[in-house]
Amino acid sequence: MEDKILFGHDLSEIDNLTEKVVLELIEKILNENDSICRCQLCVEDIFALSMNSMKPLYVQSNIKDHTFAGFDLRKVIDRDAVSAAINEAIDKVTHHPHH
Ligand SMILES: [Zn+2]
Repeated sequence: MEDKILFGHDLSEIDNLTEKVVLELIEKILNENDSICRCQLCVEDIFALSMNSMKPLYVQSNIKDHTFAGFDLRKVIDRDAVSAAINEAIDKVTHHPHH
């Protein structure tokens, strides 16, 4: 990936926390349902569609205690909403697969 450099500062430690939660929950949902296709194209489409429907949450990836500006990051992201977005993406991809 291209380095994110600004004013000489390396910003590669800034991660989208939403992405981590989306990846974690896609894995969980797919593991619970064997009928969902796991080919490269379908998994990419499920991931991209899910990410497009979620708000990003950029944070320093090296923070240790899961708090950022006074928020507990684990509670900031609505995991039920993420699961719903993923299920919607799975539904679309399953009905219109690229393969
Ligand atoms: Zn597939």
